[in-house]
Amino acid sequence: MKLDDDLRLVILEKVGVYSARFSIPEPRLLFATREVLDMPREITGGCRTSAYKYYGVTYFRDNCVFLNVRKIPDEKTLEGTIVHELIHLRFPYLAHGRRFNRLVRQGLRGKRFSPYKKRKQIAP
Ligand SMILES: [Zn+2]
Repeated sequence: MKLDDDLRLVILEKVGVYSARFSIPEPRLLFATREVLDMPREITGGCRTSAYKYYGVTYFRDNCVFLNVRKIPDEKTLEGTIVHELIHLRFPYLAHGRRFNRLVRQGLRGKRFSPYKKRKQIAP
């Protein structure tokens, strides 16, 4: 898709809506591989020069999401990519797999998730 001001607004709005539903702080967004390369190496680490291969990449340390808008073919894929990356931020311990995909589908259907709490923060 071609990244113009309208699409930027659409993306910001979607990220805002889903971040609120998933009870996560809105991530900083990167829209181009150039912006990924401009980030400090400590943040982008192992997924830096390879980012162009993917629709999206989440950088946990900096609460940052790269959306590879130029590679994303249509709005449906865009929405799926946004939800996929935000599910990573809400469920940082969860690897890709059936449980992860189910959460993405639930997120796309409008499900809300309570804030993430690390186990050690829960009183015994
Ligand atoms: Zn992923």
